[in-house]
Amino acid sequence: MSAIDRTLKSFLLKELLSGMALTFRYLFKEKVTINYPYEKGPLSPRFRGEHALRRYANGEERCIACKLCEAICPAQAITIEAEPRDDGSRRTTRYDIDMTKCIYCGFCQEACPVDAIVEGPNFEFATETREELFYNKEKLLRNGERWEAEIAGNIAADAPYR
Ligand code: SF4
Ligand code: SF4
Repeated sequence: MSAIDRTLKSFLLKELLSGMALTFRYLFKEKVTINYPYEKGPLSPRFRGEHALRRYANGEERCIACKLCEAICPAQAITIEAEPRDDGSRRTTRYDIDMTKCIYCGFCQEACPVDAIVEGPNFEFATETREELFYNKEKLLRNGERWEAEIAGNIAADAPYR
């Protein structure tokens, strides 16, 4: 580029104007960012978020304390204790997940024969303390009650591909 060209380019602010023109064009394009947390992006039905223990429609716990999820968990994050009830059915007396160990692999959900333990769509469960991430059965059942509609919808949406 000759010295005259360079001088003209500097005096006419060509680079500045082309940059501003590019910015102006983007003003009218569709936004690629969202206003999180007020807006949220789409989530796959297979998204593996916070864990939940589900109940049947009649309120009975789904979990039959088979311990398959505990056995398959590669992080050994699940601890289960179980006792038979008076009616002979087997249910857990303790179901803990150490969420600080969990790697969200989804194996527990895959292993469960009754769709009891699932990873729901909730990804906003950051805590202030480590202790809050030691989930017990009550917390997991509460999650199940809170997210049941979304979880059931996700399982139904994914069912044709299983
Ligand atoms: S998602 Fe994986 S690591 Fe986490 S509790 Fe389930 S099996 Fe264990
Ligand atoms: S959550 Fe499912 S896999 Fe785990 S103990 Fe209960 S029934 Fe078995």
